[in-house]
Amino acid sequence: MARKHAKRGGWADEPEATEDEAPPPVPCWLCGRPTGSTIVWHHPVPKSRGGRDVVPMHGICQQTLTANFTNSELQRAGLDVDVLLAHPPIRKFVDWVANKDPDFTASVTKKGR
Ligand SMILES: [Zn+2]
Repeated sequence: MARKHAKRGGWADEPEATEDEAPPPVPCWLCGRPTGSTIVWHHPVPKSRGGRDVVPMHGICQQTLTANFTNSELQRAGLDVDVLLAHPPIRKFVDWVANKDPDFTASVTKKGR
């Protein structure tokens, strides 16, 4: 008569069905760090070019991509993030951002705290 630990119906004691809990962090498509409180759903292939897939990204990572690539370049790379990472500026950015907080956003031009 174990009523707590017996897995009978499977719904009564579900440990994972907590509604308040935040969903597990998804890794950023570009830098691989877990995303923070804000997830940007980025179209690797621009929507205007018929891209349908979206990938989770940090805002700052998406900004970096769009600052470094044109839509045509992004379209060509498509879902192959390695192509993008092969670009030195991107590589450098990813290495740099690797130690930042997931919620870190660059207010690049702002200094002071
Ligand atoms: Zn990222």
